Amino acid sequence: MTEPENGAPSTGAVRSTDLAIIGAGPTGLYAAYYAGFRGLSTVIIDSLEEPGGQVTALYPEKPIYDVAGFPSVLGKDLVAGCVEQAAAFDPTYLLGHRAEQLVRTDPGDGRSPLRVTTHRGEVVEAGAVVIAGGIGTFAPRPLPGSDLWEGRGLLYFVRDLGALEGHRVLIVGGGDSAVDWALALEDLAAGVTLIHRREGFRAHEGSMTRLHSSSVDVRVHHEVRAIEGADRIERVVIFDNRTDEEAVLEVDTVVAALGFTADLGPLRSWDIEHDGRRIRTDSRCATSMPGVYAAGDVVDYPGKVPLIATGFGEAATAVNNAAVWLDPDARLMAGHSSDD
Ligand code: FAD
Repeated sequence: MTEPENGAPSTGAVRSTDLAIIGAGPTGLYAAYYAGFRGLSTVIIDSLEEPGGQVTALYPEKPIYDVAGFPSVLGKDLVAGCVEQAAAFDPTYLLGHRAEQLVRTDPGDGRSPLRVTTHRGEVVEAGAVVIAGGIGTFAPRPLPGSDLWEGRGLLYFVRDLGALEGHRVLIVGGGDSAVDWALALEDLAAGVTLIHRREGFRAHEGSMTRLHSSSVDVRVHHEVRAIEGADRIERVVIFDNRTDEEAVLEVDTVVAALGFTADLGPLRSWDIEHDGRRIRTDSRCATSMPGVYAAGDVVDYPGKVPLIATGFGEAATAVNNAAVWLDPDARLMAGHSSDD
């Protein structure tokens, strides 16, 4: 693949391409493959330093079970496959670049090229744009009072399970991530405790069944009161929020899996119909700005299901329609990848 240009300063030159893709999550990566298949050149822009979007940032080590053709695939392996698939067509990556502005080069001409400017001043001019910005720029919900411990035993994501081998781990949270990390670490860690402030978990039923038959020490109605230690975390004081009774856990690592907040960020100021969190598209994945398409989690319409599989389908729809926008004589469906 063309070398990702992580956080590269602006060259001052304008990059011209057929299709600019904003977002290198699974949807953007698949759009890059599909654009190449349609003979289009692409530039992919992402504010993260690595491709893969939520999958890379939030759950690279988790097995995913609902991507067609893969009974089970680790997040990082799915992303590697998407990158490899797109690489056949040599996309240019601008990683570590947040797309700040999207405008027409000639506002009076609805068919003029589109200009994307990144926060590092890089300018990409494209005949069409696919926005695959997912949930936007996202950040984990902080564990109150824990600021000092980040990098000293407090994690918001488990990027590398192996790094926690032999650790005594406390996981805080009641969603899928919390339960999945607890199960994934059960055999690897020296002990796993999972606390949640309520009775009910928001995790997959199958995972909950596995959790209840696992060796994970599950304590509901418990919260963190204090984290203690010298250089690194050594113990955590937790309390029962019904009785205020405290307990001290000797731990090496705390994983705060409290969900994350997401913000569409700059996309909100673009001249595109949206509801503040998601972009509206029609059945062609076209937005309200001619030549600009959107796909994946960033898109909303009645009945939308935000899944990787949905993003892949929408990426193919968006790119095929963008190809027709770029060349009105082109066919919408230009054949199959398996055609000779
Ligand atoms: P994203 O993955 O969100 O990627 C969007 C990218 O756009 C990001 O990298 C972001 O940095 C970038 N971006 C946004 N704004 C800008 C900007 N202005 N400039 C530059 N870059 C920008 N789905 C499943 O199908 N199966 C599962 O098992 C599953 N498990 C999940 C588990 C967890 C814990 C989570 C959080 C999600 C899970 N999902 C699952 C959902 C799945 O991850 C999303 O549906 C998928 O990532 C959407 O892909 P996307 O490419 O549309 O968006």
